[in-house]
Amino acid sequence: MTSEVTRSADEAMDLARRAADIEARLVKIEAAAVTAVGGIGFGKRVGEGTNIAVERFSEVAIHDGLQQELATIRRAEAKLRDGDAGRCDSCGVAIPVERLEALPWAVHCVECAI
Ligand SMILES: [Zn+2]
Repeated sequence: MTSEVTRSADEAMDLARRAADIEARLVKIEAAAVTAVGGIGFGKRVGEGTNIAVERFSEVAIHDGLQQELATIRRAEAKLRDGDAGRCDSCGVAIPVERLEALPWAVHCVECAI
């Protein structure tokens, strides 16, 4: 029983660390976005603006992906608190330990994640 408690505490710490890491990256991307938008102005050639726009587009995609990942980690943290960790959010089966080891914040089994 004691080892199980320790394991959850470790998992919670892993999740918190991962969430903090993603939050830091989000802040960085958001700060860069503000700078980039301020940097596009009159006097620049259209081509330059387009390049920046394309760059911004991929940053937005990365940003969206990170936000989604953060939401999943927050969900995994809630499950851990509720003692519901390791169960698929969709079908309720136990998520295999190997999957949780590879992806500690997994909230869906392999079948439901696809
Ligand atoms: Zn499932």
